[in-house]
This record gives sequence, structure tokens and C-alpha cells, in this order.
Amino acid sequence: MTVTILGAGLAGLSCSYFIGHENCLIFERNQYEGGHIATHVRDECFWDEGPHVSFTKHSEVRDLLTWSASGSVLEYPTNVANSYHGHWIPHPAQSNLGSVPEPLARQCFDDFLASRVQTDMQESDGPPLHYGEWLERAFGPTFAKTFPTAYTQKYWTCHPDDMTVDWVGERVYYPDVATVEEGYIGVTSKNTHYITSVRYPESGGYMSFACGIKNGANLILGKEVVSIDLASHRISFSDGTDHSYEALINTMPLDKFVKMIRHAPSNIVNSAQALNCSSLLLVNIRASGPTRLPYHWLYVYDQNMYSTRISQTQLLSPRNTPSGSIGIQVEVYASRYRPFSQGYDEIAKQVVSEVLQLGLATEIEVVSTQYVPYANIIFDHHRRDNQNAILDWLSGFGLEREEDDLDPMTDWGKAKSKRPQGINLAGRFGQWKYFWTDDCILRGKQFGPA
Ligand SMILES: Cc1cc2nc3c(=O)[nH]c(=O)nc-3n(C[C@H](O)[C@H](O)[C@H](O)COP(=O)(O)OP(=O)(O)OC[C@H]3O[C@@H](n4cnc5c(N)ncnc54)[C@H](O)[C@@H]3O)c2cc1C
Repeated sequence: MTVTILGAGLAGLSCSYFIGHENCLIFERNQYEGGHIATHVRDECFWDEGPHVSFTKHSEVRDLLTWSASGSVLEYPTNVANSYHGHWIPHPAQSNLGSVPEPLARQCFDDFLASRVQTDMQESDGPPLHYGEWLERAFGPTFAKTFPTAYTQKYWTCHPDDMTVDWVGERVYYPDVATVEEGYIGVTSKNTHYITSVRYPESGGYMSFACGIKNGANLILGKEVVSIDLASHRISFSDGTDHSYEALINTMPLDKFVKMIRHAPSNIVNSAQALNCSSLLLVNIRASGPTRLPYHWLYVYDQNMYSTRISQTQLLSPRNTPSGSIGIQVEVYASRYRPFSQGYDEIAKQVVSEVLQLGLATEIEVVSTQYVPYANIIFDHHRRDNQNAILDWLSGFGLEREEDDLDPMTDWGKAKSKRPQGINLAGRFGQWKYFWTDDCILRGKQFGPA
């Protein structure tokens, strides 16, 4: 049986790799494979489609990526900072209040202590109703408002009260009192960020991690799916051709997939329409070297700046930029909650002035932008019900529901292998989950031999 895979991002490529490339056929809209892990060569620089590093804890994924990149992998500890109104604070800020200006630092610290006396996330008062409440209970109101709330509005594009807490997991550091106290008195010796060391291909950008995985795949590029008939198992493409499938793995965004299904009922189309995801404008800046600030990436809290997260690509791999230049990649987010308020050129212009103001560069060489329509799934309060309605409806056409298919994350220790039959979903946007690249690989592995 041939398995038809829609989309050649890392999830689609990994499914094909584990099932066996000889048993799969992948259709990809772009003229290149990789999806969100594609690396683009522009202005003599390698630009990933948003900053990517590997921080997987799964040794099998580490080994696979090393093999796939032919062993040419760099590994190093990261230096990550926060920028707040001209102050540099080591990451995460909650463990480094000593670098926050006074009297704000004292207020954050006192509030933090008071919040821990009043409540405990695990036991009293029941679970927090929303991410806003989680933040207040974790950090106290001053820190919550000044740092994570401000950042949430820029990165997630909505207020924390609009978000659930099911996605938080280890992604936001929940410190103990001793760590915050130590960080307030001095600078903490502990690295409490969930990413302490990263891996990145020596050359060719992040996409080099997929070289071996994609090798031998039956891949048809430039083939855009426009319509799907679940009753007759036919897929139609924008070039007027079509294809019959036996088993289907979809990695295209779930909302888009549903909208392409012929005769989908209006309530299901409405549920798809109601799923929220942020979009991303990347501003890629090549500037004259040398590196001026030592940070691999930094978070910008100032509400009057577009820049949200800024990465220095020459620090990820020196081969990402030509000698004498540095690569600064800035992320600016928007969504239905918070649309872009200016055109891309105006935003890029302001971002360049922010980069100069922050002291990351003094002389700009070239600037380009890239728009990424699907960036982060927004775990808002309607997401679970809408996703559930869609998955329930798809189960009538052969989708097998999974115990955790509504959870933002998958516990790979519990995941069972499955045969690709009927309709299957895979990947960050296909499954509408908070997946990193290792999750996409492990999803592919589920479809392979047990
Ligand atoms: C800004 C950003 C930074 C990130 N940083 C990291 C990081 O540091 N580390 C990490 O591990 N993960 C990171 N991630 C997550 C990682 O990028 C994703 O988990 C992963 O790349 C998703 O792969 P995927 O195959 O599920 O989806 P995609 O890569 O989106 O693949 C889906 C494919 O479907 C194709 N497609 C869409 N519509 C059609 C159509 N109509 N017809 C045919 N094909 C179609 C697309 O072109 C695409 O190639 C980051 C994500 C973002 C957005």
C-alpha cells in the first residue's frame, strides 16, 4: 500500500522516512522541501525560516539528526538575555531580579514572596483559570505584568487571560523561592532556562538536519492541494490533476485541510475558521561585524518596539554569514487578535532602528523580510472545543482518535505505534499542537515499524 503524505515539512519527511520512502508519495506545494525548517540563501547568508536550534532531550532524535547532517553538528551552551528599557537581564528574568532596575526589582521580589504565601500552583485554590492567573500565581502581579504579560502580547499576540494553561508545561520556568531570592541578591549561578545547550548544523542552516531523512523520498514539489474528497479518496491539485489515496497523512495546517474538504458541514468549517494561529514577519538583517553583544538570542519586552525575539545567526554557526558580516534575525508577530498595524517595509524600517538602538549593530549591509503565515498555535479558550468537533467529524472518515489528540503536547513515552490507515494527522499544524522539531520526528516514528 502506498501512503500519500500532504506536505514535505519535517513531519511529512519523517513519516516517509520511518514508513519507508519506497512506500510513500509526498505532495508539497513549495518548490522546495522542509516547510518551517527550510533554510533560504539570501544576501550570501543562510536564513532559517525563523530561528531554529535543536534542544531535544530524546537521544534517538539526537542520533538521527547527527546522522542526517552527516555528523557535522555544532553543540554549545547558549547565552540568552532579556532586554527591558535599556537594561540587559539574563534569562529567565524571574531568576535574575538582581539585574532588574530598582525600585521595580524590589517590588517584583516582595510581590513574588507574597504570592507564594497566598497560593501554591499545585495545591490550593484549584488550577488557574487562564494563563494570566497562572502568571500572577507563579510570579506575583508586578513581575507578571511587567515581563511575561508584556511578552505574551507581543509573542502570542493576545492577553494571557485569553490563553489556557495546558500548553505551559516546562516552557515557562516556575521558580522556587530560594532561586528567586538568590537571583535578587546577586546573579544566580544556576541556568534555569529550559534550554541550556543547543545543537545546530555546522553548515547549510537548520535544514541540513533533514538531509539524510529526506534522501530517497518520493517527493513531488510544486504540487498544491486545493481540494479533498474524503468520500471518494481523491485529492485535487491547483494544476488540474488529481490523485487517489489509500492511506493519507496530512501535515498541512488543520484549518486549511478542513476548508479544502468537499462538502464539509458549515459547523465544522466554522470550527476550523475559529482555530487561531499567529503569523510571523521575519526581518533578516545582514550587518557589518564583529558581533557586538554575545547573545545567541534575546527577548525584547518593550511594548513600543516591534522586535520580539532577536537571534544572531553567526553565533548559531559562523558559516551562516560571510566573513566580516553578522546575521540578525528579528521576529515580529501578528494574528487575528493583533493584526500588523503597518506594512512590512515600514515595520522592517523600525526594526532596523531598534537593532541599532539595542547596540546589536552599527552598520547595516542588507535587509530583507519574509512572511510566515503559520507560526504559533494560539491555545485560547475556544481551541479545544473546535479541535474536538473537527477530529470527531473526521473520525467518521477513518481518523482514529487518540487519547491525547487535544493536548498541546504529546508524551512520547506513552505513544503507541500506529499503522497509517484511513486519515492520519501529523506535525505541528496538522495535529494543531505545540510541537518542536523532535516531536515531528517522533510522530513520524509512530507510523514506522514498532
Ligand atoms: C519561528 C519558529 C521558530 C521555531 N523554532 C524551533 C526551534 O528552535 N526548535 C525546534 O525544535 N522547533 C522550532 N520550531 C517548530 C518547528 O518549526 C516545527 O515544529 C516543525 O518545523 C513543523 O513541521 P511540520 O512538518 O509539522 O510543518 P511544516 O513545516 O509547516 O510543513 C507542512 C508542509 O505542508 C506544505 N503545505 C501547506 N499547504 C499545502 C498545500 N495546499 N499543498 C501541498 N503542501 C502544502 C507546506 O508548504 C509545508 O512544507 C519553530 C517554529 C517557528 C514558527
